[in-house]
Amino acid sequence: MTTPLLEVRNLRTHFFTKAGVVKAVDGVDFQISPGETLGIVGESGSGKSITAMSILGLIPSPPGKIVDGEILFKGENLLHKKEKEMRKIRGKEIAMVFQDPMTSLNPVFTVEKQMVETIMTHESLTKKQARARAVELLQLVGIPDPSQRLRTYPHEFSGGMRQRVMIAMAISCNPSLLIADEPTTALDVTIQAQILELFKQMQKELNMATIMITHDLGVVAEVCDEVMVMYAGKPAEFTNAKEIFTNGKHPYTTGLLHSIPKITPEKQKLKAIAGQPPDLRHLPQGCSFAPRCSKAMERCLTVDPEMRQVGENHQVRCLLYEDEASKKAVTT
Ligand code: SF4
Repeated sequence: MTTPLLEVRNLRTHFFTKAGVVKAVDGVDFQISPGETLGIVGESGSGKSITAMSILGLIPSPPGKIVDGEILFKGENLLHKKEKEMRKIRGKEIAMVFQDPMTSLNPVFTVEKQMVETIMTHESLTKKQARARAVELLQLVGIPDPSQRLRTYPHEFSGGMRQRVMIAMAISCNPSLLIADEPTTALDVTIQAQILELFKQMQKELNMATIMITHDLGVVAEVCDEVMVMYAGKPAEFTNAKEIFTNGKHPYTTGLLHSIPKITPEKQKLKAIAGQPPDLRHLPQGCSFAPRCSKAMERCLTVDPEMRQVGENHQVRCLLYEDEASKKAVTT
């Protein structure tokens, strides 16, 4: 068994607001090994981006605080690192790609200035060497005429090309872990497919671990090895990407699967998940998905389910699978 590159244990990130405590992440566990891609899926407010921000040490405090858990990266707990140490890790060891590259690229500087600066912050290279590396990286991510394009400003690139620049910047210091937060959401479908292809290619070439945060199960099908579905700050289901499509068990997962548009000869209405995600300050008693769940039972209103093993590398937080989990415990 390979040693995990990153191991997140019982992570709890809460926000202490005047209106109450928002339990944005409330007991997240997962691990990821070199070269693996983990998809974290869920609606807005499910806690997926806050999980990523917690790993990167970017939770605004106050009002945010990691109240419990461990984030072990290469065996060291990132929660014990000082901000100065985290600055060295961010960008060098763990890099991030966001949904909108314009929020990460500075519009008043050329791509060259931004890339060269990033490379020189983390690597001991001269300006000339850093520029050569930037050209190499732009070429790697498929930007034509990279030497020339380096001199241009972010607004002179199309959306897809800007995202390629962001990926080039993210991988410029050979990070071991790349966190991509909805990296293709702002792009049209053709460009989205190209960027996902680029992620796959980069990962193969660099053997990076990747956390892909998305609300889109189509992205999971394209690039992920494993997937964690999150709901109301907690993992609802964890398994490998193939299993989630063929044997997804949690009613929230099946709801997400049913809401994917399908190409069929007949017109079909999309089946949306009824209701809205809960207010994280006032979670219902029992299972937090109960008010929206078509399979909810009496017990679901009082018992908060735990994550249970229902198969090899398959865990579900749902009372429907209690028996399956106990059978599994008896046979293993
Ligand atoms: Fe639905 Fe009950 Fe399972 Fe929650 S525990 S997902 S309410 S069946």
